[in-house]
This record gives sequence, C-alpha cells and structure tokens, in this order.
Amino acid sequence: MHEPHKFARVVIPSPLDQPLIYRIPEAAAGQLTVGFRVLIPLQRRTVTGVVLETFNESPLPAARDIVAILDDRPILDPALLKLAHWLSQYYLAPLGAVLATMLPPNSRRNSKKTAVLKTEQPIVDDPLSQQLLDQIGRRKGKIQVKTLARRFPEYNVDRLLAGLAASGLIEIEERLTQQRRKSIGPAATEPPAPQGWSAQGFEMTAAQTEALRVIGSRLEDGRFETFLLHGVTGSGKTEVYLRAIEHARSLGRRSLILIPEISLTPQLLDRVTARFPGRVGVLHSALTAAERWSQWWRIVGGHVDVVIGARSAVFAPIDNLGLIVVDEEHDPSYKQEDGVLYNGRDVAIVRGKFADCPVLLGSATPALESYENCRQGRYRLLKIPQRVEQRPLPTIEITDLRAIDRAPVPQSSRSQTTEPPQEPARPLLSNTLIELLRQNFAARRQSLIFLNRRGFANFLQCIACGHVWRCPYCSVTLTVHRQQKSIACHHCEYRRPVTAFCPECKNESLKQVGAGTEQVEAVLRELLPQARIARMDRDTTSRRGSQEALLRRWGKGEVDVMVGTQMIAKGHDVSGVTLVGALLADLSLNLPDFRAAERTFQLLSQVAGRSGRGDDPGRVIVQTYAPDHYALKYLVAHDYQGFFAAESELRRALNYPPHGRLVHLRLDGPKVAAVEQQAQRLAAALRRSLARPAGCREPIEVLGPAPSPIEKLRNRFRWQILLKGKQSSALLDLARQARALVPRSRAVRLHIDVDPYSML
Ligand SMILES: [Zn+2]
Ligand SMILES: [Zn+2]
Ligand SMILES: [Zn+2]
Repeated sequence: MHEPHKFARVVIPSPLDQPLIYRIPEAAAGQLTVGFRVLIPLQRRTVTGVVLETFNESPLPAARDIVAILDDRPILDPALLKLAHWLSQYYLAPLGAVLATMLPPNSRRNSKKTAVLKTEQPIVDDPLSQQLLDQIGRRKGKIQVKTLARRFPEYNVDRLLAGLAASGLIEIEERLTQQRRKSIGPAATEPPAPQGWSAQGFEMTAAQTEALRVIGSRLEDGRFETFLLHGVTGSGKTEVYLRAIEHARSLGRRSLILIPEISLTPQLLDRVTARFPGRVGVLHSALTAAERWSQWWRIVGGHVDVVIGARSAVFAPIDNLGLIVVDEEHDPSYKQEDGVLYNGRDVAIVRGKFADCPVLLGSATPALESYENCRQGRYRLLKIPQRVEQRPLPTIEITDLRAIDRAPVPQSSRSQTTEPPQEPARPLLSNTLIELLRQNFAARRQSLIFLNRRGFANFLQCIACGHVWRCPYCSVTLTVHRQQKSIACHHCEYRRPVTAFCPECKNESLKQVGAGTEQVEAVLRELLPQARIARMDRDTTSRRGSQEALLRRWGKGEVDVMVGTQMIAKGHDVSGVTLVGALLADLSLNLPDFRAAERTFQLLSQVAGRSGRGDDPGRVIVQTYAPDHYALKYLVAHDYQGFFAAESELRRALNYPPHGRLVHLRLDGPKVAAVEQQAQRLAAALRRSLARPAGCREPIEVLGPAPSPIEKLRNRFRWQILLKGKQSSALLDLARQARALVPRSRAVRLHIDVDPYSML
C-alpha cells in the first residue's frame, strides 16, 4: 500500500508569504491532498494556509503540526494551483500574494489570542511582568496579545505571559475569527430570470453562424485555441457567446464569461441568467464577502454550468472547463492596478491553455496586441462586419472646437450665486449639437452626452496671481464639485470647502477652468428644462446598486438625456438612443501614454456604438480641438483596420507593444531624495548588468529613471524606469534582478508591473 505522506508545503494567502513546511498529524494522514485549507501555527498565532504539495522526506525535521483541516474538500483544484504558480512566476509576485488575489476575501480564518486577568490587581516581583499586568488591568482585564506585543516591542511578551499564565494570574484564550458556514445550492444573489430574452426570435446573420461553426468545431474536439471575435457594435457578439456556451453545455462542459465591470452591465447578466436559469454563478467585487464565499463553494460543488464575473472571476473554481469568453477584451479594467498586477484577459488565455479549452475574445475595437496576434497566426480572427438586422452603423461627424472658439461668444444666463464664476463660457455644446438635442427630445428619443471628466470644473484658479488649488498630498489640481460645495482630489480623499478668495493674494477674482460632467448636466438642465436628465459617473454611483438602478431607468426610456464619463461607454443596449455627443473628445489624446490614441479610438467607437441600436439610425457629434488627428479620421470612417495599420506602424518604430514588451518599475517613498537616489542606482545597476558579455542575448532598453507623470501620490514621491525588449523571458530576468537589487524597506518601495497598462 502507498504510505500516506507525512509533510505538507503550505502557503498563507497574504502579500509577502512564501511556502512553509508542516507535519501532517497522524489522524489526517491520507485524507489531506493539495488545495485544502488548513490551520497552521505561525509565531504566536494560528492562521489559514493552503496545501501546495505533500511529501515524505522533510528537509525540516522540526516542522510543527498542522492544527486542523478546514473544509471537506479542496478550495483550489490542481489546475488552479498550477495557474497560481504561473502568475507568481510571470508577474513576479510571491505565491501568497497570488493566492490572496485568487481566493474570496474571507477565506482566511486567523486566531486571536487574548490575555485575560484572573485576579484583581495582582502584584508580582518582576517589573516587566508587572507592567504587562497593569496594562491588561487598564483594558478592563482583557487585551489582545498582539496589542501587548506592539506596545512592548522590546520585551519577549509571549514568554512573560506564559510565566504569568503558569502562575495562574492570567489565562490566554485563543479564538478563531468567525466564518459563516458555507451554503451550497441556489444562491440568493442570483437575480430572478427576466422574461423576453429567449433564444428564439433572433435571426442569426451569416457571419454569426460562421463564427459559431468555427468555434463549435474546436469545442467538439476540446482543444485550446484563442479566437478573436471582431464584431462592430450591435453585431450580436453576445448571442454568439451564449450559443457557444450552450454548445459547450450540450457536451457536458462548463463555461466562464469575463466582462469588464459587472455592475455596468445588468443587461448581460439578465440575458445569461435567463438562458441558463438556476445554473449561473456570479462573482464580482460588488458582492459582499459572504456572498462571494457562498458563490465560490457553489461553483466548487458543481452547482453551476456558467460563471460570469469581472476580472477576478478568471480564478473561479470551475472544473471541466469547456469555454472561456472574454467580452470587451480591450477594456483597461481587465488590468489589476494594485496587489498582483495581472491582466485578466491574458490570464484567461493561459487558463484555457492549461485546461485544453478554447478561449473566445470579443471586441468591436480589439487591443492592438490581440489583433497583432491574429496577424501572426497565434489567434484566429472571426469577423462580424455588419450589425444585426442590417441596421446601419451610426454616422459620425466631427465638430472643430477651434472654429467655435473664434466665433463670438454668446452671453449665457448665469445663476445668482456667490461661487466663483465659470470660465468666460466657451459654449460646452456647439449650436449644431444643441439643435440636435432639442429635436431629439421633441421626437421623444434618447440622447447621450459623453465627457470623460467628472466634477463641475477641472480646477480653480486665481485670475490676479495665477494661483491654482492643488492637492497637498498628490501632484494634481483639485476638482471643483458644486453639489458638495467643495474642491476635491480625485486620487486621494483630500477635500476642502470652496474658498471665496485666493489664499496667496486675497483677491476675490477666482475662475473655474475646464468643464466636467456635473457642469454639463447643469447646462443641459437650462437648455432642456422639460427633459429628464441624469448623470452617470463615479460621483453619482458610489452607493451600492445606484448604478444598476440608473441603467435600468435608462434602459426603460425613463431618462431623456444621459450625461456621463466612460462609464456610459460600456455595452449597454438601449434601443431608444439615436443621438450621441462626445465633448472635448481629445481629452484622452493628451495623456502621456503611448496608448492614448488607441484608448481614444476605442472609447469614442464604444460611445458612438451606443446609438442607432433600435429601428432609428444613430447620429454622433464629436467635438474636438484636434479634428485632424488620425484616430478621429478612422473613427468617422468606422475603419478599425485602417487605425490598426497606422497605429501599429508608429508603435513599431518605438518598439512599443504589440511589437515589443514592457516591464515598468516604479519606486516610491516619503522622501524624494531617497527615491531618486535609489532609482538612479537601480537604473545604473541594470545597465551594467546588460553590458556584461554574458548578460543578455536579447537587446533590452533601460529607459529612465525619470519622475513619474504624477510625481507625488498620497504623499509618496514616485520615480520610474521602463524596460523594453522583444522577449518577455529576458525582460523578466532583468526585472528579477531589479527585485534583488532593491532591499525591502519602508523608505523606498519597488513595484514591478509586467505588461503595464497605466504608467501615470
Ligand atoms: Zn469627484
Ligand atoms: Zn491670487
Ligand atoms: Zn490627493
């Protein structure tokens, strides 16, 4: 008989932890396999870990015992553990950090030790012990051991407490943090299946049918391949996903659908739950921890056939995976921007490869990387060039704001308030757009106004001395919010009331510069007093469920004009929308980001695509100061291929993705001199390493160091170095060296971002 293993390698799901070895108690021998959650002793506490492997010979004979097994089955299967190892290697993150990212937030049960006084005001000889007893007494006879240890860092608190406990003066209580029992079965969080989304009644286009045929053959032979479904807005990509999932299900396989931000797309959620009633698992960050926990075990238990969720759902514990769908694959929200900096779309492809299942990426405006992968033959391109039911794509017109600026400014009515005047109003909306809005409202159709900047005004400035209100903690200007009567930082929590005069020169002539969505909403209310106007941005949707409620009103036609930031660009399918206005469309072109043109093209294509999805054709007005920019030219022509070719050439010249790969190194700390010095030292060391003859076969560029575009964020100064090369393996080697070169310290921290998205 096979002898049961005696030792286990266990990792604690927390940011800095590497695996540790523990002994498997006799009683648990044979029943403990990889992927189980266990309780393990660690220093003075008991904590939760996940078993990575079991074996018989330990290099550490003095390993401590595992305290308990927590569940009746593994929380992670071997395939997900393999994925965890891949993430740890590729994104240069400790395995503990990766598991903390993968597992639902309350999967850790840790113990709390409390010291409890057993007698009134005890007196002992040892002054150190007396101090501890006094401290416990001051806390009503009960204090967490952790708190005591923090208060007396120079003492061996555990040893002193053990002595006091032995003499009966105190007792040490250990208790695990509470955790709800897992519930298995239909979850309360699944919305009721809505009516009217049956598969019947959809006439499939030839392109949809062909795409399904190609995907279907791969589903049949159950092999990995990545498809890119490039379908214009309104071309019925969702129907292709749903039928492919049905196909996988008919073969007895489960599916995973990733979508950018689930709260933004209640419609898609409705459609999926209507199609697979009672068999859908939902995982996203808007669920409570308890809801996510119960969804997780429902999926582990095999009670669902389809899991839908945002980025982190890529780690959903589905076995027997038949298909992974990544909707709006170009969306930046797939990139995690703190903790483990992974890209959910890229992880989905690796997961599909490990699971031998096809991966279907979908977009109207694919990421350059994905489209290039099709051209290189790594992905297969499937096209849907037409909208369903032969609906035309919207017509897009460019309005040149420079011409409007030169025209005489009409006097706008101004409300009687004491607040600083707005910038002598360049009209936010051109006369053409205003006229179209009026007509559209008169015809009882819906309009959408897009401006990718929230708040009332971008910043506040003193006309007399030029003073601009800035965040004291971040190197950014403060945004004016009229409703809250405050100016606020959009990068930290700093907020202060609007002042009546300049703190520098005491002058009262302040002006608000640059309009945001709040101001657009106010202007529209004056222009169309009868219309029902709503605004959707982070300021109006912070309350749980408010965004979904707003979208449902919009979908039911209870809003005439919707104003919003990029939140309104996502895949809402509202058939009454026939007019879209994009204001200051070049805002995102001016960001210091090599993807600025791509982001602008994608965002405006998405926004434009919201119109004309019903029986009436759509019309789009794009107002811009850069009417000749190539991104806008291709936008007007609905020419993705043209945009791709032009943008791709520019990137090739600079070795930027998709023709090169990047690793972004950011150093930050509270003292600017220390950060700069460390950045200089690191860049020099990396260059020396590359100069060594045996150093590297692939040419790698080390760019920088330089201050980050946002030099200070939340009171930490930031410098950056960019590594650019052709092959990720050589880049990762160099990044690993960087990690080894910068010691872990509070003074300067190094953040490594592989395949970075935002480098501000
Ligand atoms: Zn704000
Ligand atoms: Zn001033
Ligand atoms: Zn700030």
